[in-house]
Amino acid sequence: MAEPRSLGVPAAGLVLLVGASGSGKSTFAARHFAPTEVVSSDTCRALVADDAEDQSATPDAFDLLQHLVGIRLRRGLLTVVDATNVQSDARAQLVSLARSHDLLVDAIVLKVPARVAVERHRASGRTFGRVPVERIVERHDRDLRRSLRGLRREGFRRVHVLDGVEEVDAATIVRERSWNDRRELTGPFDIVGDVHGCASELRTLLERLGWRLERDDAGRAVGAHHPEGRTAVFVGDLVDRGPDTPGVLRLVSGMVAAGTALCVTGNHEDKLVRARSGAAG
Ligand code: GDP
Ligand code: MG
Repeated sequence: MAEPRSLGVPAAGLVLLVGASGSGKSTFAARHFAPTEVVSSDTCRALVADDAEDQSATPDAFDLLQHLVGIRLRRGLLTVVDATNVQSDARAQLVSLARSHDLLVDAIVLKVPARVAVERHRASGRTFGRVPVERIVERHDRDLRRSLRGLRREGFRRVHVLDGVEEVDAATIVRERSWNDRRELTGPFDIVGDVHGCASELRTLLERLGWRLERDDAGRAVGAHHPEGRTAVFVGDLVDRGPDTPGVLRLVSGMVAAGTALCVTGNHEDKLVRARSGAAG
């Protein structure tokens, strides 16, 4: 028996199942995900052609699949694509769809021997019109093997490869919330951008908004809280230009550590990180 392996997938994001026809993708999807979370190319083919096996309907089916996936991602829903995804351009379109919604995308590869996939097809009676099942599965298998080496460079956050029937059977899924998913926070928020090293002005601003500054023994502002429980959101460019970047970082870091502020970096922070890591420019 393979060791049980838990696969982390983004709680809100995209998951591509990758595997030859007959590798067990639909079975895997049904076991681990809700039916509405799974968008299947076979189902889309059936919806546009009344026949899940009508290969002539494939372009229309993929139009529908992309449309459905796009809508679900726009709504921030976990979406699992049940299609072979053995060709890089099919994957690239879906990866860029997830990116366009600022969401993560993982791949789960079901690497099952071609003869197993063929045997399963025989047992289930599924066909591909007049094309022999062996030819289809072999083509998928070849495309998959060719894909495996470069897969990790295609923009996936993670590529989980399940090697063999036992590993596929033993896998479990864990939904991981991304660190920037803070939908439980409801505010009220004070949103502050472009402080640019102006520590004194930042302190004045916060005090005018009703924040209470916290100081260390040397009198330096190292934190702040709001008596009405407001949350500050710093939206980039704390550093550069002004006279006291360390003072700004000290105060904002203290607030973030205490949970009274959230902070995202701006291009000037990126520049500082690059400079400190030794890069020019
Ligand atoms: P897909 O083409 O990759 O979506 O594969 P399916 O999930 O449709 O599986 C193809 C066939 O294999 C179906 O008849 C399944 O019932 C069967 N199958 C899938 N997973 C397993 C498995 O783990 N063990 C066995 N024995 N059969 C399986
Ligand atoms: Mg299937």
